[in-house]
Amino acid sequence: MVLKNFFSFLITILIFYTNSVSAISELPIEAKNFDVNVKLTGFNQAQKEKVYQAIELIKKVIVSHEFREKVLNKEFMGKKGFFDNAGLSNEEIYHKILQGAEEKGITEANNTMDLDLKLYQDDSKTIGYTYPHIVRIYVNKKYFDNFEPYQVADNLFHEWLHKLGFKHSVKKDDNRVHSVPYSIGYLVRDLSQAHYSLTNKTAVNTIMLEQESQQSN
Ligand SMILES: [Zn+2]
Repeated sequence: MVLKNFFSFLITILIFYTNSVSAISELPIEAKNFDVNVKLTGFNQAQKEKVYQAIELIKKVIVSHEFREKVLNKEFMGKKGFFDNAGLSNEEIYHKILQGAEEKGITEANNTMDLDLKLYQDDSKTIGYTYPHIVRIYVNKKYFDNFEPYQVADNLFHEWLHKLGFKHSVKKDDNRVHSVPYSIGYLVRDLSQAHYSLTNKTAVNTIMLEQESQQSN
């Protein structure tokens, strides 16, 4: 009985693996090679680990078929496109992300999300911020410490989209959620959350399987 369970488990993994491979094969090479490079200032070890977890989630999202599909098919006001899109089509925005050419710092297309993060703390409602003329992104400890890694992934990606030159209004209005930083930040969060809970479920399943095999011994 245990052996039968084990084989069905193995088959499930094989099916999952085959599906992932076929989906990944349709992606551009830049999605598969996309990397994240981070410099951290003011983070303790546990906080660093959270950033690294967020980065792993971002990499999983970029190499996913869903991310490409969602960006390419984004609609605003009944037409394909983003609000505050810097004059770019969905296809161009997707490729700009993969190229990773920041406006300040490492400006060549190095296929890498280059991040320079500094943790600070204040009592404002700001989760994180940056300015067009600087490389650094400031992350508010007040939110960061309470965030799950997928929420950190959203914030980092949102701020990094500013580093690529995308903007949005300061004022919260109906269109702002459709801007490139907000819309793609939320997309990264949602897809990250799916990966995050999947990873946690897998961990729980592994523990259960271990317990099962211990019981049968
Ligand atoms: Zn912003």
